[in-house]
Formats: sequence, C-alpha cells, structure tokens
Amino acid sequence: MKIDIVTLFPEMFESPFGHSIVKRAQEDEFVQIETVNFRNFGKGKHRVVDDTPYGGGAGMLLKPEPIFEAIESIEEKSVRSKKRIILMDPAGKKFDQEMAEEFSREEHLVFICGHYEGYDERIRSLVTDEVSLGDYVLTGGELAAMVMVDATVRLIPGVVGNQDSVLEDSHSTGLLEHPHYTRPAVYEGMEVPEVLRSGNHQLIEEWRHKESLRRTYLRRPDLIESLDLTAEEQSWLAEFKSEQLSQDEH
Ligand code: SAM
Repeated sequence: MKIDIVTLFPEMFESPFGHSIVKRAQEDEFVQIETVNFRNFGKGKHRVVDDTPYGGGAGMLLKPEPIFEAIESIEEKSVRSKKRIILMDPAGKKFDQEMAEEFSREEHLVFICGHYEGYDERIRSLVTDEVSLGDYVLTGGELAAMVMVDATVRLIPGVVGNQDSVLEDSHSTGLLEHPHYTRPAVYEGMEVPEVLRSGNHQLIEEWRHKESLRRTYLRRPDLIESLDLTAEEQSWLAEFKSEQLSQDEH
C-alpha cells in the first residue's frame, strides 16, 4: 500500500510512524508512507498557502492552488494507482473500525490535513472522502491522519504477526474485547478466573465470548442493537439483564 500525507507539518509524523508496528510495516514493505508539504506549492517569496475569507469573518482559509498542485504532484508520481483521497474534516463521516478495514484494502491512500479556519470549498472537489476523527475540533488534520493511518496499517494482512489477535480486537467482531489476565494468578487478593487456568480451550473460548458480550452490554449497549444474536447469546443477555436488575434492587 502507498500512503501520501499532504500537510504543512511533515515533521509531526516522524515520531508516531518511526516506532512499533507502523515502523515495522514500512521496513517490511507492507506500506510506503510519504509526506508532501503543500507549503512547497505556496505562492511568492513567502510561499503563502492561506488567505482571508470572501465575505469577511474570523480566521484564514487554505487556498485551493497549493493543495490542487500537491495532489497533482502525487498523481504525476503514481499515475496508475487507484487513489482514495481523504480530507480531514470535523464535518466529515466519523472514522471507525469498519472504515479502517475498508482503507486497509486500498492500493493508495492520500490524506489531506487542513489547518487554520478550514479549506476553500473548491478543495472538496478533489476528494473521494471527507472524514472526521470525532466530534471535536483539532488544531489541524495531522493528529487525525496519524490515528487513521495507524488503525489502517495494522489491519493490512501480515503486518501484525498474529492476525487472529487483530481479528479479535474490540470493534472487529462487532463486540468489545473480553477481559485479559497474565501472571501472577493472584495479585493483592485479586484472582484470575479459574476457567482461564483450567487448560480447557473450549470452556475458555466460551467464557471469553460471554465476557465479550457482557462488557459490550454494560459499556456499549448501542453496539448490540445492530447484531444478529445467536440463541445462546440471547440467553446470556437475559442473564446479564436479570443480574443487573437484582443488583439495582440491592
Ligand atoms: N472551522 C473548522 C470547522 O468548524 O469545521 C475547523 C477547522 S480546524 C481548526 C483545522 C483543521 O483541522 C480542519 O480543517 C481539519 O483538517 C482538521 N480537523 C480538526 N478537527 C478534526 C476532526 N475532528 N477530524 C478530522 N480533522 C479535523
């Protein structure tokens, strides 16, 4: 996969992409990540990339020309690749695991990071997607692009050594992940559930599945609404509900 990031602050990406899984994914050639500083396409001696809004108002807007030219330079370097051009925008579609999975199957992703008050509206004609990290406003699109690249790259098959661990992560299965424990078996009086030490893999799988559903029911019941539950899951759910009712009564 090829990823280009169009930004005014390329140095910001050095640390997050220079460690751990994203670093290894680049070294092992699962992904090639480059930054394009659109300041280089700014006009005049000061390479201006922003200007005041027509009609007045607070703040500066990113001008169309530098971003159009930055995208053109990416097109020229990789004419044949099929690109997803993704605008970082708090007004875009909210990023989630499903979108990360979709992005991880693409050939070439281009992230455009905004700054200042936002973009000249015509920049939107360049893009295939407008995506938000969440319902809050960041100073620039860089942090959002970092998060989206990280979540996407770890889903490229082969990037994370044990692919099963990625497939079992929270949100990948539609449920939150079950609780985990490691040694010691007892710490400060808190004990690891007996079943996890039993060596019975079928019982362990069942316990994990049930606890995954319990955690989702307690923390994110909205996620359960969109699931097609098996008869066993429905009976577990009924059990959690009655447990909760009896707890509320006490
Ligand atoms: N005035 C803009 C608005 O109300 O939508 C916010 C501009 S924000 C200060 C500057 C840039 O940061 C945005 O153009 C966008 O690229 C990026 N940004 C801010 N919040 C974001 C979010 N939640 N998700 C993705 N990008 C975001």
